[in-house]
Amino acid sequence: MNPAEWLARTAQRSPTAPALFLGTRLVADYAEFARRAGAIAAGLTARGLGPGDRVAISLPNTVDYLPIFYGILWAGATAVPVNGKLHAKEAAWIVSHASARLVFTQDAGALSATGDIGEAVCIEPASAEFAAMQAGDPLPRPAPMSQADAAWLFYTSGTTGRPKGAILTAGNLAAASLSYLADVDDVAATDAALYAAPMSHGAGLYNFIHVQRGARHIVPESGGFDPAEILDLARQMRGISMFAAPTMVKRLVDAASAAGADGDGIKTIVYGGGPMYVADIQAALKVLGPRFVQIYGQGEAPMTITALSRADIADSDHPDWLRRLGSVGRAHSVAEVRVLDETGQPLPPGEVGEIAVRGPQVMRGYLDNPGADAKTLRDGWLMTGDLGHLDADGYLTLHDRAKDLVISGGSNIYPREVEEALLEHPAVREVSVIGAPDPEWGEIVVAFVVCAGAAPGTGELDAACTARIARFKKPKRYVFVPELPKNNYGKVLKTALREMLPEG
Ligand code: ATP
Repeated sequence: MNPAEWLARTAQRSPTAPALFLGTRLVADYAEFARRAGAIAAGLTARGLGPGDRVAISLPNTVDYLPIFYGILWAGATAVPVNGKLHAKEAAWIVSHASARLVFTQDAGALSATGDIGEAVCIEPASAEFAAMQAGDPLPRPAPMSQADAAWLFYTSGTTGRPKGAILTAGNLAAASLSYLADVDDVAATDAALYAAPMSHGAGLYNFIHVQRGARHIVPESGGFDPAEILDLARQMRGISMFAAPTMVKRLVDAASAAGADGDGIKTIVYGGGPMYVADIQAALKVLGPRFVQIYGQGEAPMTITALSRADIADSDHPDWLRRLGSVGRAHSVAEVRVLDETGQPLPPGEVGEIAVRGPQVMRGYLDNPGADAKTLRDGWLMTGDLGHLDADGYLTLHDRAKDLVISGGSNIYPREVEEALLEHPAVREVSVIGAPDPEWGEIVVAFVVCAGAAPGTGELDAACTARIARFKKPKRYVFVPELPKNNYGKVLKTALREMLPEG
């Protein structure tokens, strides 16, 4: 089924239900939302685009985003979301790798000037061409799509190298969306999706159920992530669900504390996409209350491997509460999760290995990357490249990316454990730990530390570590930095940290 069917059906059932908002201003009801998507689909069809073609959306969060996204699907084409904050050259790389034939972009000049987008045509949402397209006669129904047809070409965020294009089918999106409804957020028609994170990534995935339920979609006027604006919008609009990367949660908590706010109007904050440290989620619970659900996933299994439920996060009386807060929860309804040893055999609870997942949400494969396909998809299992262990109750704890594991003097050291220990020191605001080559040890642990004020002595940091973890795991070097290098999703780029390593 074409995922745009959900929009067509909701528009039929509840045409006057409010659908798209820019801030608090209603821009379109469901009838108008579907009409715009159908008209964009007709415009694409008139340009010769349809099933088998790829159309990119290289836009920041705007109120045009969802009509364009659904318009592409409605035409039967594959949508290629490109983070609107990427540099024109990075965006052009994705457009060209995807062989997209048309790009919706706010800056056609910059994209074309790269000289890298080949024959792709650019359309700016502010242009007369787009206005005419959107005002045209709509294609009455979404084009047919089968379960196996590509609907979304989703580029990973590229923290371990070049982004890879995960081909997600109509069936993958349906499975991931229904699993979201079952395990993450029981969306009602009175709820609202608030797009605080880039719609090209996690946040964009969470629109399907809101569309299916006929709930509201709110794009902040700033188009970016302004914590004060988010808190204000939530208070006014109510029933808000939003995806937030851990760094965004931290900023929201800081803004709420400073304003004496408590997250009123927010129903659910879904966090994930990167490690959330236990101390940070505890602080978030204190300030914003029990509104959190954690998800663990990848572009390849769109945010649908495990979830740590609202109840698990909120139940501070449970004897396993703290341990569970440090986990990423249990398998999503549609997911089978295993931890495998080097030979591909499942490991018993407690033992660390590579996490593998199987289910109807797992991508069809990567675009034009057979080498990566063979490494990643084995007998129907997606090898995540993440290390972790399951406990006897099925809670999965992530250790690190296999690539980020530090092997020092023959011992395995998981950066996350060291990071958690250092974060307990009050002067440490952010930290990221990597392994650096060393002639004696093979690798040594190096901590990049961002301090809240004056940098503490390294003796104090060592003490914070040895109070919590084995001596051999404590960093051999500390590098104090004003900030950590992050990508556009707020994820720390360990590859960049490795390049920043000072000599000696
Ligand atoms: P690339 O694959 O191109 O290097 P990327 O891995 O950042 O980029 P994404 O698909 O955006 O690509 O991110 C998925 C990864 O993010 C997971 O494999 C995992 O390492 C991490 N991750 C996701 N959710 C969580 C979570 N809840 N806690 C900790 N880490 C998480």
